[in-house]
Amino acid sequence: SVLNVVDDKTEVREYFNTEGFNRWNKIYSESDEVNSVQLDIRTGHDQTIQKILNWVKDDGDISGKSVCDCGCGVGSLAIPLAQMGADVSASDISDAMSSEAARRAESLGISNANFYTSDLESVEGKYDTVSCVDVAIHYPTEQMAGMIGHLCELSDRRVIFSFAPKTWWFVALKKIGELFPGPSKTTRAYLHEEEVVKKALEDSGFKIAREEFTGTNFYFSKLFEAVKA
Ligand code: SAM
Repeated sequence: SVLNVVDDKTEVREYFNTEGFNRWNKIYSESDEVNSVQLDIRTGHDQTIQKILNWVKDDGDISGKSVCDCGCGVGSLAIPLAQMGADVSASDISDAMSSEAARRAESLGISNANFYTSDLESVEGKYDTVSCVDVAIHYPTEQMAGMIGHLCELSDRRVIFSFAPKTWWFVALKKIGELFPGPSKTTRAYLHEEEVVKKALEDSGFKIAREEFTGTNFYFSKLFEAVKA
């Protein structure tokens, strides 16, 4: 329901401004203050980022092209893309996350990336490449198609999108996880069917050009590159 969606967003924003920020800022760094599960997630996430950067490198020069990274976190993708010369505009619903991304970029002397706080649905403009990595886990199934439609509207050419795939095995794992939630507060997690994501991209006029899957013990992410059909 609409109320549920509002709840989800408020919860996600609060989480990533507080406990979630502390947790993910450590995971998305080189800090050794992580446990073995967090280290595993860091490794998996690094692999997803590297696969995207390899695609971009294989295509040639991204310098001067515009990139819009939605749900940028601490800038794990936006920062290396800026270092490759892309003109980056990156946002996150969490002010703590987008501020940390800006801080990291500044400390690296990056001037061709702009970070700001925004809900994905409020992002505007037109960009060569629109990316949205590991954000869909916070979107209920019924909100997915609309979210992907918005990302596609922002894109002139390409959308890079990743999500935790809904297979019977991950559904089972997630159930087990819910039985043993552990001490730390988290948010609800939504898995998505590959076919549903593909259809949403196709309905918005895009077709899958490349795909990858990355799985470690605790990290699972399906990655699509979709280009304007
Ligand atoms: N994309 C980054 C990366 O791969 O390093 C961060 C991934 S992190 C698991 C998910 C991020 O999505 C968080 O920083 C969270 O604040 C952000 N997020 C969740 N819902 C969002 C929304 N509706 N609009 C913008 N950002 C959102």
